[in-house]
Amino acid sequence: VTAESAPRKRVLLAAPRGYCAGVDRAVQTVESALERFGAPVYVRKEIVHNKHVVQTLEERGAVFVEENDEVPEGALVIFSAHGVAPDVHHSAKNRNLRTIDATCPLVTKVHKEAVRFAEEGYDILLIGHEGHEEVIGTTGEAPEHIKLVDGPDGVDGVEVRDPAKVAWLSQTTLSVDETQQTVARLKQRFPLLLDPPSDDICYATQNRQIAVKQIAGQCDLLIVVGSKNSSNSVRLVEVALEVGVPASYLVDFAEEVDPAWFEGVTTVGLTSGASVPENLVQDVLELLAAHGYGEVEEVRSAQEKLLFALPHELKRLQASEP
Ligand code: SF4
Repeated sequence: VTAESAPRKRVLLAAPRGYCAGVDRAVQTVESALERFGAPVYVRKEIVHNKHVVQTLEERGAVFVEENDEVPEGALVIFSAHGVAPDVHHSAKNRNLRTIDATCPLVTKVHKEAVRFAEEGYDILLIGHEGHEEVIGTTGEAPEHIKLVDGPDGVDGVEVRDPAKVAWLSQTTLSVDETQQTVARLKQRFPLLLDPPSDDICYATQNRQIAVKQIAGQCDLLIVVGSKNSSNSVRLVEVALEVGVPASYLVDFAEEVDPAWFEGVTTVGLTSGASVPENLVQDVLELLAAHGYGEVEEVRSAQEKLLFALPHELKRLQASEP
């Protein structure tokens, strides 16, 4: 094979990728709290599911804890983007903590839907991943009424009080295709199943999956930058494999990319989860260039303009500072 006839190595960079509006707001919330109130600022759970973001904020004085009882009485605590159950607010109040709730407004929307369906007497079938913080938070809104359905295989085991009074909701960061399958199976079992008032899988999750599908047909390999506990990032790898990309891997950092993956690869697809800062993607692009994949084409399937205002508690707390 001569140099001229060798296939051109290239990178297809998916867009949209990376930070969504909810992550941007949550990270800015911690940064603003550190600036305005000084370290330490306590954060219950990882503010967003990304190693690099958590490490960077830790270096600046954020202290990540698992539960409120690890926060000194009276101190400031921020709740993560994934949302919390009402009992977390109660326990913070009991410990006299000052709180800032960085729950993504699109997660809050699902909480409100759960409360309303429960008040109307529905059993709620919550499609989501067992143990995920968002699922724990949403379930806490109406624990008596919410049953978890973890994918299509979870449908058969679900028990409800009245099959005529059931509704479904979902985690915001699921695979769109798999959720459709789960809903279809639920509707076979419960023909009167009520849909959510609007999509629970958020715009950012949907857009990143569509962007991967857009480039998938041309990619021999697709690298997703994101952490292993990031639901939407893990879904991007699954989507790539499902639509036929021969290989797809999740990496937190460029150093985790294994050059053996490039064997016989002409086109590398690259994207990142909704909690991933763009500098981590740029690091992977540099590494790819060093392996001959210097030609980069961005393929954009949607524009994202959504921005959320910072939590109102930030202003309120600042006003009450001496
Ligand atoms: Fe909000 Fe979606 Fe981002 Fe989660 S992934 S923080 S629901 S915008």
